[in-house]
Amino acid sequence: MTMDFSESDRVREMREIVRGFVRRELMPLEGPVRAQGFAAMLPQLQQVRRKAKDTGLFAAPLPAEWGGAGLPLTEFAHLSEELGRSPLGHWAFNVQAPDIGNMELLLEHGSQAQKERFLGPLARGEIRSCFTMTEPERAGSNPVWLETTAQRDGGDWVIRGHKWFATAADGAAFAICMAVTSPEAADAYKRASMILVPTDTPGFERVGNLSVMGHRGGDWASHGEVMYRGARVPLENLLGPEGGGFVLAQHRLGPGRIHHCMRWIGICERAFDIMCEHVVTRELAPGDVLGNRQLVQDWVATSRAEIHGARLMVLHAAWTIERRGASAAREEISLIKLTVARTLQRVLDRAIQALGALGMTDDTPLAWWWGHERGARIYDGADEVHISHVAKRILGRYAARTQGGS
Ligand SMILES: Cc1cc2nc3c(=O)[nH]c(=O)nc-3n(C[C@H](O)[C@H](O)[C@H](O)COP(=O)(O)OP(=O)(O)OC[C@H]3O[C@@H](n4cnc5c(N)ncnc54)[C@H](O)[C@@H]3O)c2cc1C
Repeated sequence: MTMDFSESDRVREMREIVRGFVRRELMPLEGPVRAQGFAAMLPQLQQVRRKAKDTGLFAAPLPAEWGGAGLPLTEFAHLSEELGRSPLGHWAFNVQAPDIGNMELLLEHGSQAQKERFLGPLARGEIRSCFTMTEPERAGSNPVWLETTAQRDGGDWVIRGHKWFATAADGAAFAICMAVTSPEAADAYKRASMILVPTDTPGFERVGNLSVMGHRGGDWASHGEVMYRGARVPLENLLGPEGGGFVLAQHRLGPGRIHHCMRWIGICERAFDIMCEHVVTRELAPGDVLGNRQLVQDWVATSRAEIHGARLMVLHAAWTIERRGASAAREEISLIKLTVARTLQRVLDRAIQALGALGMTDDTPLAWWWGHERGARIYDGADEVHISHVAKRILGRYAARTQGGS
């Protein structure tokens, strides 16, 4: 099958619209948001969000029925890269994690009533949501070993458990909770389910925001700790089938990793611009700029090669998901997750190094990204989990071939 990753006219046009928007509307707000915090700048940010709606690319991957542009994964991938150039890009266009993943889950697995109650306002940007799966007492890398339970009681689920690292729980209107509903199921992958929990449910307690790399965040840019203390929601709040939590989580993560990876490539491109603009102007001595040094030229050429390779890998994974589905693309998805997260760290590190002390200041977004994006190698599966998944599959094929005598 022919693989063609060239941009269509439609994609080129959308990229130009978004690139102009990011430069004109978002970049000027970045410094004030870093200095004053997201919550303090919310009125100005909401104004920009209204302008983003006018571009017709708000919540773009969603179908038109839910206010989106119905963009397929490969097309949205390009947009996600453009938006990634600003820390505010994905939020402005309502495609930020965890909301976009939750919207995709609701779209694919929600009942009509759930869509109307939760997806509609989320897609319009009227509310926010969070996803509560990880628990402090259990290794998040083993997704089938959860302590949180949801028990049937009459017409309700009663949820008990302790969650943390729930991104954007601060201010979220509802949470998707991953809880064990069938502890006796022989197949460990069929024990947990996803349940929609409005955050004003008695027994849902947001303990507070975690301090992460020196920041507690506030509002959307936060990671929260949550207690479920007998939170009671109706049985119809089950999202997807009972025992289907793991399968749904995999569905959520397939496209989610494409969104994240392309956002990281956008960050790489902006960091690359900042680095190159600096090294062609920063003089070590009169008339002798940093970019004349071969060591610095190595950062430039190596970063270019790594970003280019990473982008092609992600576009290939998106193309594979579109044609064969996320389950058939698990190896490709693992490979991009670990490759792009590492590329991001290296490119950011080189850009900060090239800027010297300036790179450590909050005059550019580099330091903010350095703190906020270190987690890229941990969330959505730590590097080591993906490495071991890929290696086992590859070696399994070799072992089968050897046993088959070929
Ligand atoms: C910024 C950020 C945002 C997050 N947002 C959310 C969210 O919105 N909702 C949510 O539910 N969770 C969220 N998480 C949690 C995230 O999903 C978990 O941190 C992740 O699954 C890893 O689990 P853990 O932290 O318990 O680490 P552990 O599972 O305890 O693993 C610790 C380390 O052990 C190593 N390791 C793990 N497994 C293996 C293995 N098989 N072989 C070798 N080494 C291994 C890895 O280096 C790993 O980093 C977020 C995390 C971060 C950092």
